[in-house]
Formats: sequence, C-alpha cells, structure tokens
Amino acid sequence: MEKITVATGIPYHVMIGDGLLSRAGELAAEAVKGRRVMIMTDDTVAPLYLVRVEEAFRSAGFTTASFSFPDGEDHKTLGTAEKALEAADAAGLTRGDLFAALGGGLVGDVTGLTAALYLRGADFVQIPTTLLAMVDASVGGKTAVNLRTGKNLCGAFHQPRLVLCDPEVLKTLPEPVYAEGMAEVIKHGALGGEALLNRIIAGGDTAGLIAANVRFKSSIVSRDEKESGLRQLLNLGHTFGHAAEKLSGFTIYHGEGVSIGLMIAAFAAEAHGLCEKGVYTELRTLLRRENLPVTCAFRAKDIAAAAMNDKKRRGDRITLVLPEKRGMSRLYPVEAGRLADFIACCDEEVTGL
Ligand code: NAD
Repeated sequence: MEKITVATGIPYHVMIGDGLLSRAGELAAEAVKGRRVMIMTDDTVAPLYLVRVEEAFRSAGFTTASFSFPDGEDHKTLGTAEKALEAADAAGLTRGDLFAALGGGLVGDVTGLTAALYLRGADFVQIPTTLLAMVDASVGGKTAVNLRTGKNLCGAFHQPRLVLCDPEVLKTLPEPVYAEGMAEVIKHGALGGEALLNRIIAGGDTAGLIAANVRFKSSIVSRDEKESGLRQLLNLGHTFGHAAEKLSGFTIYHGEGVSIGLMIAAFAAEAHGLCEKGVYTELRTLLRRENLPVTCAFRAKDIAAAAMNDKKRRGDRITLVLPEKRGMSRLYPVEAGRLADFIACCDEEVTGL
C-alpha cells in the first residue's frame, strides 16, 4: 500500500492499494474522532460498492447512514446538497461526525460541499471510484456544485481527512470514463517533469500510476492550497477545453475537452516558439493511445470567444498554461483581445476540422 501525505493546513493521507474499500472504516477511525458516518454515493456506484463500504464502517464501530442521488451533472446542484444536509440531520450527525464520498469526482464534489456546509463544517473522507477522482478530484479540497449558468460556480475549499484509492474498483468503470481520467494523467505528464511523463508513457501497474499522479498533485496543492499561483498550472488544457465543452452543449465530456485543450495549448505554444519542438506530437500520440479526441470542429476564433466568457478570468487578461518543454509548462498571460490571434494557428490542425 502506498501512503502519500498532502501537507495542507491540516495534513492528510492518500492511501492507494487493492482491497482498501473493505478497510475504509478501520482507516477512517484512525483519521477522525466521529463514529457516525453518512456515505454519499450515486445510483450507479451504490449497487456496486455501497454494501461493502457500509460493512467496512460498521465493523470498525461506526453507525452508518447513506444518501444516494442520480448520477450526471444535472444532479450536481445545491438542491442535491440540501437533500443530503437534511438526510444528515435526520441521521443525527453532529459536527464531530463524518461524511464519506463514495464515487467519482461528481460525488466527491457534492459530498465535500455538503460536509463544508453541515453545521459550518464537518469532516469528510474521499473514497474515489473513477481514475479521474483518484488522480485529481479527490486531492486538493476543491468542492462545488453547478449553477444553472455554469459548472462548479458554487463551492468552497474544504480538505478531506483521508483519501482511500482502491484500484480494484476501476475494473467496473466504463472505458470512456477511464479514458477521461487518462486525459488528466497525461496533463500531469506535461507538467510534472520528465520522470512522471516517462512513467505515464511506460503504462502498466495502475496503483503505481495513481500514486505517481497523486504525489505530483499533492506537491502542488501543498504549496498552493487555495490556487493563488502555482496551482493554476493544473488548469493546463482547461481554458480551451471548457470552451470546447461549452460550444458542444456538453456533448464533449470534460476529459475529452481537456484533451482537445491540451492540443490547442501545445500546438499554439510550439507555433509561437514558446515550446520545444516535438512536445505537441508526443502528447498527441499519448492522447490518441487512450482514444481521446485530439481535434474539434469548432474554429479557433469561436473557442477563443467562449474562453473569454470564463468567469475565472481576471480583468482584461487571461492566464494561459502553455507547455514549454517535455514535462514542463508555464503560466503565460495574454491580453483578452489577442487570444483569438494567438490560437488562430490551430485552425486546420487541431480546430475547425
Ligand atoms: P463522475 O463522477 O460523473 O462519474 C462518471 C460515471 O462513472 C458516473 O456515471 C458514475 O456513476 C460512474 N462510476 C463511478 N465509479 C464507477 C465504478 N467504479 N464503476 C462503474 N461506474 C462508475 O465522473 P468523474 O470523471 O469521476 O468526475 C467528474 C466530476 O469531477 C465533474 O463534476 C468535475 O467538475 C469534477 N472534478 C472535480 C475536481 C476537483 O478538484 N474537485 C477536479 C476534476 C474534476
């Protein structure tokens, strides 16, 4: 079993190993004081793993309650969080008690926000069941729900007390959902140094791959808990990716958007002489190996216009993350009015196809 410490204000461990689902109670008991837990999950994950996790908590002396909601972004709402808060109250959870997120990044985000709100802040543990949630969403304490006007617009920073990754659960994950996680893994490869990139290219040993990615994400989060600088690097591929998702009416999924966004960033960076030659082609090969899209139908000017509506933009500049060389990227602020020109070179190679 791998154990990685995330050195945030209150540090916590990420544990990675086969069979950890069945040890969730025993390991949580070492990390928290409360002995009442509400396990939050979605309607796809519940029939697969809820009973096992409930039993694991009960055998470690916890009283359990559960709250399951339909999967999909339409249910990542304050309404769902409100129902979960009512359920927690009905189950008698006190502030010292615990929420557990059993599911993908969506369940993790809703559970984290519910825990942040319950009695002004209760503990929670993450038990991620998708690759994306293991390597990315469950580490770092970003929690959120969607508003009608956009994704993740209502949230809080609330760090978990423990993260338990059991790679065995990935066996039931549909292949396209696994691939979306690989988009974030490959993004890490473009940020976390050549050793991480080479490890990703080598493939194999899922637990080792997850551990390498968690170590990288944790190193960033530990140094910039609330995204005031360094953590912005993790947005590589996201500015253009979100834009492509939005333009498609969300028929392009998040991981697919990240893949396309990574391609736009890498191609434009190389074309402007800001990145070593060869980086774009190497990343493209990796993304294609995972059956991720590397082109999109929208033209660069439309992607730029959609990116400019991003609410995370500050003032009249947009901070891009651009690959610089193998395994390394940097922040690159661009004036809003120049964005369309900056990525126009992508038409006929990545965009507009
Ligand atoms: P998801 O949570 O929507 O899960 C995708 C699908 O897989 C769902 O239908 C789910 O029921 C199913 N599923 C989950 N685990 C399964 C398993 N083991 N076997 C079979 N089916 C399983 O998708 P995701 O990609 O994990 O997460 C995406 C969400 O995470 C988005 O809402 C995104 O905003 C959020 N996110 C958050 C952060 C963060 O830092 N907080 C980072 C990245 C993404």
